[in-house]
Amino acid sequence: MIRYGQQDITQADIDAVIDVLNSSNLTQGPNIPLFEQSVLAHVGAKHAVAVNSATSALHIACLALELGPGDWLWTTPNTFVASANCALYCGAQVDFVDIDPLTYNLCPKALEQKLIAAERAGRLPKIVVPVHFSGQPCDMVAIHALGQKYGFKIIEDASHAIGGRYKDEPIGNCRYSDITVFSFHPVKIITTAEGGMAVTNQEELATRLSLLHSHGITRDAKLMARPMEGPWYYEQVALGYNYRMTDLQAALGVSQMTRLTDYVQRRHAIADRYGRLLADMPVTLPWQHPDSHSAFHLYVIRLQLGALTRSHLQVFEYFRSRDIMVNLHYIPVHTQPYYQDMGFKLGDFPQAENYYREAISIPMHPTLSEAEQDYVVEVLLEAISQ
Ligand SMILES: *Cc1c(COP(=O)(O)O)cnc(C)c1O
Repeated sequence: MIRYGQQDITQADIDAVIDVLNSSNLTQGPNIPLFEQSVLAHVGAKHAVAVNSATSALHIACLALELGPGDWLWTTPNTFVASANCALYCGAQVDFVDIDPLTYNLCPKALEQKLIAAERAGRLPKIVVPVHFSGQPCDMVAIHALGQKYGFKIIEDASHAIGGRYKDEPIGNCRYSDITVFSFHPVKIITTAEGGMAVTNQEELATRLSLLHSHGITRDAKLMARPMEGPWYYEQVALGYNYRMTDLQAALGVSQMTRLTDYVQRRHAIADRYGRLLADMPVTLPWQHPDSHSAFHLYVIRLQLGALTRSHLQVFEYFRSRDIMVNLHYIPVHTQPYYQDMGFKLGDFPQAENYYREAISIPMHPTLSEAEQDYVVEVLLEAISQ
């Protein structure tokens, strides 16, 4: 079976985790700061907080930016539900901005139009969450400029995008955002089994993220309300959570980070090869903006259904019947029953909905062999030539 995405675990990864099992700190050991430093060195931000998932990172990023009841967070409908749910955790409300039909990312023009209307209605968002879909960065210059004009904060959901670049700088340097969030779920670019990280250049935000990820507790005298009472002393100064990463996970992360550049290179080689092999087929290939160097978490093709006899569902099922576990990213979040109950309707974000009717994520991961890739192409050809 060929999966759309999967982790690569080496003997060095296994050894790194076993070393932690043999050490005295299974959690909150030396690998946490090592992993944070390793990611910071790669992405070029100043502060990092490792957490147990990107979902947790999104939650505490919203809290650090003081999102609460009465506030709005806007994101793209073409994302995993976590990019939107984080607002609901904080008691805030969610709205969406339709996608650019070329990049499948949040469309800055649609964002501007929605902001103009929201300003008139007195309902401007407090936070906008652009998602670097498939690893291709959003138009951050445009989104950042709108943030300056309309006064919203920006959390980049870079769950797909560690190792990618925007305008020749690493995604995650927070040049155009307040906080960037990464996921280390096994299908993502690097993995810690479960895991995530929030990075920022703002020291005050880093302090808040750090408090929030561990019960709101501090052992730093500078953050305390009262003088230290002794060496045992700590204070709870905010309401936080237990969102900590374990040292086992961080050790795996440190080991995986040594291969990040190779992984992204390999993903580009696979994408280039798909580009050549699929060039003449009735499918739309992932268009790459010239400012972007995608991390290529996903390789999404769009079926040109007018040129096919099989339906989208039939092509999808044909792949699965031939042991190719294709997937679909994403069911537009606003069409989920939970969101429909909040008042969103089919038709609200037509570009994301049209995309959903045609998209298939075909296998893309660094261990995909050329023979496997050839088989994927062969099966696609069979699927569309009937
Ligand atoms: C995977 C993913 C998340 C959630 O990541 P977890 O680490 O599984 O919590 C959030 N946003 C996007 C875009 C994702 O792909």
